Amino acid sequence: MPALALLLCFLSPLVLASGDELLLRNANVVNVETGQIDTLDVLVRKGRIAAIEKPGRIETTPKAIDLTGRYLMPSLWDMHVHFEGRDLVEDNALLLPVYLAYGITAVREAASNLAPTVLAWREEVARGDRLGPRIFTAGRKFEGINSLWDGDREIGSVAELRAGMDEQQRLGVDFIKVTENTLQPDLFLETVREARRRGLTVSTHVPLGLGIFELAEAGVSSIEHASYLLRLGSADEEKVALAVREGRMGPEAANQHYRSKFEQETANAAYQRLAELGVAVTPTLIGGRQLAWLQDTDHSDDEFLRFLTQAFTANYQWRIDRMAGETDAERQARKSRYTLTAAQVPALQSAGVLLLAGSDSAALNTYVYPAEALHEELSLFVDAGLEPLAALQAATINGAIFMGVDEEYGSVSVGKRADLLVLEGNPLETIHATRHIHALVHGGRYLDRAALDGLLNEAGVKRARLDVARSTQP
Ligand SMILES: [Zn+2]
Repeated sequence: MPALALLLCFLSPLVLASGDELLLRNANVVNVETGQIDTLDVLVRKGRIAAIEKPGRIETTPKAIDLTGRYLMPSLWDMHVHFEGRDLVEDNALLLPVYLAYGITAVREAASNLAPTVLAWREEVARGDRLGPRIFTAGRKFEGINSLWDGDREIGSVAELRAGMDEQQRLGVDFIKVTENTLQPDLFLETVREARRRGLTVSTHVPLGLGIFELAEAGVSSIEHASYLLRLGSADEEKVALAVREGRMGPEAANQHYRSKFEQETANAAYQRLAELGVAVTPTLIGGRQLAWLQDTDHSDDEFLRFLTQAFTANYQWRIDRMAGETDAERQARKSRYTLTAAQVPALQSAGVLLLAGSDSAALNTYVYPAEALHEELSLFVDAGLEPLAALQAATINGAIFMGVDEEYGSVSVGKRADLLVLEGNPLETIHATRHIHALVHGGRYLDRAALDGLLNEAGVKRARLDVARSTQP
C-alpha cells in the first residue's frame, strides 16, 4: 500500500522514540514489492517495525544509527535447504549462525534424516535459545518402500500414507515433501491429495509417470527444481506420463522424448496454466550449475570451506565419482541442459508463477555451500535474464507469501517483524549487492559487520575443533 503509506507520512504526528528502540536513519529503503527506493527513517520497537517516516520526523533515540548511502531491505529467506547427515549434527548446527551472517533469517528445510533434531532446532531458534534463521521444516519426506534416500517416511499403501501423515502432523511439520525415487505415481498423487485435504502445504518432485498438471490439479503447492518443468516443452507431456505409468514407455525413452521435443512457446503456455493453478516453483539452479562446470572449476580455495568439516565435504565425493566417467559430449549436454533450465526462470516469472529462491544446499549436494549458495542462486537468476527486483522478491516476500506469513515478514513495512538487511550498495542495480552486508537487524537486534564477522569466526573455530577432535580419535 504505497499510496496509503505516503498519506500516513503527511498525517502522522512526530513519533517519539524511547530508550529500548532502534532508529535507522536516512536509509535507502528498498520496497521489494514495487521496486521503489526512498530515503527514510525506520523505527524498530520490540522486534517490529514501529514507524517509517521521512528523515527527521522521528526523534533521535540513544540507539540511532545513520545509514546514509546504504540500502535497507527485508532479510533473505532460503526456500530450499537440507540439514542432513546422521554423523553431521554439530557440523550443521555450527552453520546456523553463518546463515545470519549471510543475511538469511529464515530457511525452508525440505526434508532431512535428522528430522527430530531439526524440529528441536526450530523450537530453540523460535525461543531465542539458539542463534540461527527461523526454520520451516518438512520433517521426513514421503517416499516409496526401499527408497534410495536415508530417513524417508516410506509408504506402500494408502493406509501407510495416512498413518505417515498423522505422524508428521503430530510432530508439527510446516509442510509436506514428496519425492519420486520408489513412490509409485498413484500413491504419489494420493499423497498430494491427502496433504491438501488436511490443509497442508505440499512440495514435490515430479515422477516420470505423472503429468505436471495432474499434480497441479491435485493441489501441489510448489514444484521443487525447474529441471522437471522442461517436460512442459513437449505438448504431449501428459500422454508420455501415462505411457510411462502403464509401462508402455521406459524412463530413458521418456527423457529422450522430452529432450528432443522441447519448445519454449509450448512451455510458456503451460507456465501460464501453472500460474492460474497457483503452483509455485523453486528453481534450485545452483546445484546443476556446479555439477555442469565441475571439471572447469577449482574449488580447493573456496572461502566457504572454512565452515565445512571434512566429514561434511566428504559427502561431495559421491556425485564427483558418479560423474567421473562422463564423456566430453555428455558434459556439453549437461551444460546445455543447465542453460535451458535457467532460461525457464524468467519465462516462469513472465507467466506469473510465484518463484521461490532456494539453494538446495546440503551435505549431499556438491559445492552447494549453505547460506552462500542463496546469493549464487540469485546471481544465476539474474544471469538467466530475471530482473534483480524479481530475484529479490523470490528471496523475500514470495517465501513469506508461500508460507502464509506475509503479514509478518517479507518487506520493510510498519507492523512487520524487524528482520532487515543493510547493504553497502543498491541490490536493484546489481544483485551482487546482497553479498556486501553492512549489518543485519534480526528480530530487532542490530548486528553490525563486526558482530557478523564474529559469528563467522566462531563458526570457523568450531569447524576446526570438530576436525581436530575427529582426526585424533582412536
Ligand atoms: Zn532438495
